Amino acid sequence: MSKFLTGKTALITGSTSGIGLAYAKALAGEGANIVINGFGDADAIEKERQGLESLSGAKALYSGHDLTKVDQIEAMMKDAADAFGGVDILINNAGMQHVAPVEEFPLDKWDLIIALNLNAAFHTTRLAVPYMKDRKWGRIIQTASAHSLVASPYKSAYVTAKHGLAGFTKTVALEVATFGVTANCISPGYVWTPLVENQIPDTMKARNMTREQVMNDVLLAGQPTKEFVTAEQVAATALYLCSDAAAQVTGANLSIDGGWTAQ
Ligand code: NAD
Repeated sequence: MSKFLTGKTALITGSTSGIGLAYAKALAGEGANIVINGFGDADAIEKERQGLESLSGAKALYSGHDLTKVDQIEAMMKDAADAFGGVDILINNAGMQHVAPVEEFPLDKWDLIIALNLNAAFHTTRLAVPYMKDRKWGRIIQTASAHSLVASPYKSAYVTAKHGLAGFTKTVALEVATFGVTANCISPGYVWTPLVENQIPDTMKARNMTREQVMNDVLLAGQPTKEFVTAEQVAATALYLCSDAAAQVTGANLSIDGGWTAQ
């Protein structure tokens, strides 16, 4: 039986780990060619790449460029064009976090977070949209965050970048609306991934808390279900956005946050 994304190419930034890897598996499972991106151990990444190909028989390419640099983003998009002739599904997912009070926020961390979590999405989008317009079909999906809708203290750069990403996505949605191209944000609450695990020590320091206090009183405090979101639940929403059923869903910001932003 033919799978619904057979013949499409999906580029997913930051897909060597966490939510990005879950998107890659979900889309490969539906037959899409996949471009994965991100950092990590070369052997582990090659194993994941082969695993993606075995899911559907479609191709998977690793393009490990650093998306805080514009020339490297351009190189990644060229890798996709050379291998697959362009991009049909763009998922801007690479992201990083740093937790510190605003008056102590390291300048280099501010610049890196804005470059990766916001500027990179502009560059990949401007380079992918021409292929999508030509083909009269495309899907632009951002992993935004509950922090694209509400704030938390000590995350000034991240919250700024994610709010910016939400506004950018609405603008793009309007520009491409008549071309069969949609642009949407998926906004998870806390998903248990390395990004969340790695911010626990800094949060312990910033708030003078134990690990258990950070887990229960900070991370899950605002999530009414008291459960972490899974990366697979986020990936299932991306699959929905790629389907014909979601052709009229555009400019939306879809929360998957256990009720966090309903409060
Ligand atoms: P993660 O740390 O597991 O994965 C981040 C990915 O980005 C990795 O593949 C990493 O190698 C890649 N990456 C980091 N710096 C990069 C760079 N300079 N260039 C290219 N790739 C780079 O994190 P995750 O939790 O899976 O997060 C993925 C996205 O989801 C991020 O945008 C994050 O803000 C968002 N998000 C996460 C959560 C959560 O609770 N985990 C909640 C809401 C939103």
